[in-house]
Amino acid sequence: MNNCEQFRELIEAYALGTLDAEERTDLDIHLASGCVNCRTALEEARWLVSQLAYLAPDKLPSPMLKERLMQTVRAESAALRRSVFVFRSRTRWTWIGVAAMIVFTLYAGREMRRLRDQTRQAQSNAAEAQRDRLRLEEQLVLAQREIGILTDPASLKITLCPQNPQTPTLEGAWHSELGILLTGQHVAVPAGSRVLQLWLIPKTPGGRPVPSLTLRPGVDGKLVLSVFNPPKVMAETKALAITEEPAGGSAQPTTAPIWLGGVS
Ligand SMILES: [Zn+2]
Repeated sequence: MNNCEQFRELIEAYALGTLDAEERTDLDIHLASGCVNCRTALEEARWLVSQLAYLAPDKLPSPMLKERLMQTVRAESAALRRSVFVFRSRTRWTWIGVAAMIVFTLYAGREMRRLRDQTRQAQSNAAEAQRDRLRLEEQLVLAQREIGILTDPASLKITLCPQNPQTPTLEGAWHSELGILLTGQHVAVPAGSRVLQLWLIPKTPGGRPVPSLTLRPGVDGKLVLSVFNPPKVMAETKALAITEEPAGGSAQPTTAPIWLGGVS
């Protein structure tokens, strides 16, 4: 029982409370023996579970919603475990982001089926259920696209390095068809209504930066920027840059880049 690998595949299910009694007992004994690796993995997995709140359709999930979510994942846990295992080798943040999105897609699929049944059964709430279902469908399509960008081997991995060593690095990927996804944690929120704006720096000598999307990181410092239709193709882009700009963004950068990452 000293082989951690056999337990590592169970950690996410443990954090979600979806292990059967026998597996849970084995893992409890192993954790009680003081294995630091597995304890760290469990902390990560618990953090992942806590991230589900961000991905749920509305603010914080109610206890009932949480319970439904757990039931969903329980039913799909074999598939979930396999998917999560695939992403172990990725960076910690990417892995957590992907896993959280997978859990969300599992949840959303079930929830949409439930809402569809509800639409058929209860005529009085049909319009509301229909609206919830469409909103979930939209979120599901976006989440699946983000998973595609992060996990497709054809995607180019991009690291956006900060110009100030105190600023965290951003990780991301660019898929020629699905788009760009950038993620970061502990990102400082710009003052007032100012925003962060992405720029595509063209390979053409002297080419001006092409403006892309703007966003403000969450108050928790979490940054997720999806650009599904980048304004330039990868082959024509030398680098990505992010600057701070006034609300609504700028046509040309008005400040020095906070992050810069080569595309090659
Ligand atoms: Zn262990």
